[in-house]
Amino acid sequence: MSPSGSLATVSRALDDRALAVLAEARTVAAGCESFAIEADESSVVHEPTLAALRASRLSELVVPSAFGGRFDQVDPLAVCVARQACMKVSSHLDSLFALQGIGSYAISVAGTEEQRRTWLPKVASAEVLAGLALTEPGAGSDLKAIATTATVDGDEIVVDGAKSFISNGGAAGFYTTLVAENGGLSLLLIPADSPGLTVTATPEIIAPHVLGDLHLDGVRLPSSARLGEPGKGLRHVLATLSVFRISVAGAAVGLMEGALEEAVRHTRTREQFGRPLAQHGPVAALLADSWAELESTRLLTYETAASARLDPAANLDRSSLAKLAATEAASRVVDRCVQAMGRWGLVRGSKIEKYYRQARPMRVYEGASEVLRLGIARRLCDEVD
Ligand SMILES: Cc1cc2nc3c(=O)[nH]c(=O)nc-3n(C[C@H](O)[C@H](O)[C@H](O)COP(=O)(O)OP(=O)(O)OC[C@H]3O[C@@H](n4cnc5c(N)ncnc54)[C@H](O)[C@@H]3O)c2cc1C
Repeated sequence: MSPSGSLATVSRALDDRALAVLAEARTVAAGCESFAIEADESSVVHEPTLAALRASRLSELVVPSAFGGRFDQVDPLAVCVARQACMKVSSHLDSLFALQGIGSYAISVAGTEEQRRTWLPKVASAEVLAGLALTEPGAGSDLKAIATTATVDGDEIVVDGAKSFISNGGAAGFYTTLVAENGGLSLLLIPADSPGLTVTATPEIIAPHVLGDLHLDGVRLPSSARLGEPGKGLRHVLATLSVFRISVAGAAVGLMEGALEEAVRHTRTREQFGRPLAQHGPVAALLADSWAELESTRLLTYETAASARLDPAANLDRSSLAKLAATEAASRVVDRCVQAMGRWGLVRGSKIEKYYRQARPMRVYEGASEVLRLGIARRLCDEVD
């Protein structure tokens, strides 16, 4: 344990930059602690949480310095540790922060100078929220099945279709949107106020999240709305995943820290059969196994994010591996923590119950576990002589 009594130990796997970002993000998250339970129950933007994000400089981490961001290039390890600190306190804060990068990264890597100058400084200050619209009613894991179409009409591009379960749907200022065009997939930057774009509510999920379904009915965009070349959109989506998929593992580490701390505080004080629960072998095993999983996935996460700094694209499979390991571990850890706390692990509105629900979607979004396993196994077979 660190002197503060927290599981958020200072890891020697982090360099000075990452440690400074971790400390900074912890301060921002601490400022959100008093309203975190309320924020995490909200499926619309929670204004005090957004105000805290805006007042901080955290969103600068997801934008290159030439456009109002912090570092020359977006640093996957910095994003990872920032998400760790945010998620431990509030999934709402974590999501608002992460989406600024997930929604805007394609602009950073493929946008025109004008697109970058128009949008990125506002993303870096969190004045404008960002969205990434890939998923459709008929296209989830299989993005090649995307049915939203882009058709060139003179100087304009006309977009028709629907996107579902889009984070920040209804709150974002723009959506980086993947569409089908002439047999390929293209990426478009669609401002939220475009005529023909409407947003309806997505069904409420077990861990509330700002989500909306987008309806695109004859949305007309100038040709300058393209992000990169026609038909090459998937490339920029993969670039986004290369940097941000590993950050889901960072968030999972933060969630595990929070859940395990709750379980430790409960089981070392509550006595049954004359001793604290934590001193009964099977309960001690729940705690010890959870700590082992937390610390091993922490190291894997930091190591993978540090490697992704050098060449994010080359590290996509490793990022998938770390995301898979950390999110699956988070579900196991939080389940053990609930078990160790007995009926107190089941109380609605408690921190542990919140973590239990929040761990679940992490195994579905940004690459569902089964789909990640397919790619990881393929890579493994390629790597072995
Ligand atoms: C909280 C939340 C936020 C989200 N935010 C966004 C967002 O901002 N933008 C966006 O575009 N989308 C977003 N999504 C949607 C998310 O990306 C999809 O849910 C995800 O891609 C999985 O697609 P699906 O839900 O349609 O599941 P499906 O693709 O239907 O998969 C269902 C199950 O089948 C498995 N499966 C699918 N194909 C295979 C296969 N070939 N082999 C083995 N197993 C397979 C999957 O692993 C999964 O277990 C969000 C979802 C959630 C829950």
